[in-house]
Amino acid sequence: MYKLAVIPGDGVGKEVMEEALKVIRVINDRESITLDYEIFDWGSEYYLKYGRMMPDNGQAILQEYDAILFGAIGDSRVPDEVTIWEFIMPIRKNFKQYVNLRPVKLLKGIESPLRLSEEIDFVIFRENTEGEYSDVGGLMFQGDQRELAVQNTIMTRQGIAQLTEYVMKYAKAHHYTKVTNATKSNAITHVMGFWDQVVEEIFANEVLAYEKIYIDALAAYFVERPERFQVVMASNLFGDILSDLGSAIVGGLGMAPSGNINPEKEFPSMFEPVHGSAPDIAGKGIANPLAQIWSVALMLDHLGRKDLHDHVVFAIEQLLLENKTLTPDIGGNATTKDVGNAFIKKLYR
Ligand code: NAD
Ligand code: MN
Repeated sequence: MYKLAVIPGDGVGKEVMEEALKVIRVINDRESITLDYEIFDWGSEYYLKYGRMMPDNGQAILQEYDAILFGAIGDSRVPDEVTIWEFIMPIRKNFKQYVNLRPVKLLKGIESPLRLSEEIDFVIFRENTEGEYSDVGGLMFQGDQRELAVQNTIMTRQGIAQLTEYVMKYAKAHHYTKVTNATKSNAITHVMGFWDQVVEEIFANEVLAYEKIYIDALAAYFVERPERFQVVMASNLFGDILSDLGSAIVGGLGMAPSGNINPEKEFPSMFEPVHGSAPDIAGKGIANPLAQIWSVALMLDHLGRKDLHDHVVFAIEQLLLENKTLTPDIGGNATTKDVGNAFIKKLYR
């Protein structure tokens, strides 16, 4: 039995999580696995009531769980830096979820905006606990001619090396032959130069092919020839941007899952769609729940059930191929709930 902490969060996070929970309940009924879940109402509503995004002992509570399933956060009544820095960022950092795994896979039945005959199927690994997303810095000389802002990027040897080693092991275990390093060491010489150096030291004696591509050119290649990539590794900021771009070439944010992984399993890992709370469509019941359901699949894989991961992803493909019950973002006119219900029928027909 696994203990699962469920945090729906805000906006469409709540809507897509309802469908993911249907999937978890049916898996509990039909499979030899039990995901015993508890729902936490933390997020922006909680903040408006209690003045914080989660209870003071929130981390201690979460630490008792085997995994965290997260929806999305973001609310116009709460500053984004509060929702991010007081909630999702401390979870990622304190639980040492230094690997952010983001598959970019064009499923059968999805029409990519890129008209390509070849497959798009690669994985982005984003460094998830340091780098550009640091809180070291600040505003100086406010209201003065010299007014300025500084925010330091912090890259540690340990931080870069632990991600690189995970990427290397993952690539080998999944029979990939090439790793692409997204960098910008030509301009950001100190930190990105150091990043390249540590990455390259680790790949030096490896059988895997290695290439380094500057992030600006890489962004263009994602659109022009995405089929050439297998595994892409990137810093926190670069990986964040590249994975939204990656989602756009395989059906959009409604089709992009992710895992925030603590490989040592010392702390729970957290699975969530790449998208945010989507205020423009929240409350309309039309958010695509497939990124959240696919995130459940990544969680099952992490818990040692690759068979169930594959089963869920296969059922998503069957639903897409049927081309009947899809949300508007991928060309249909069904509701979030319709898609959740139709998905369950594909999973266990
Ligand atoms: P967003 O991902 O919420 O939305 C971007 C676009 O994608 C919108 O047009 C939206 O309608 C669409 N979209 C997103 N999810 C969808 C789904 N499941 N189905 C169909 N369409 C979907 O990004 P944003 O608008 O930049 O940010 C909105 C809020 O979310 C902000 O407060 C931001 O800080 C927050 N945010 C949170 C997370 C997170 O929880 N990890 C990630 C990104 C943004
Ligand atoms: Mn993002």
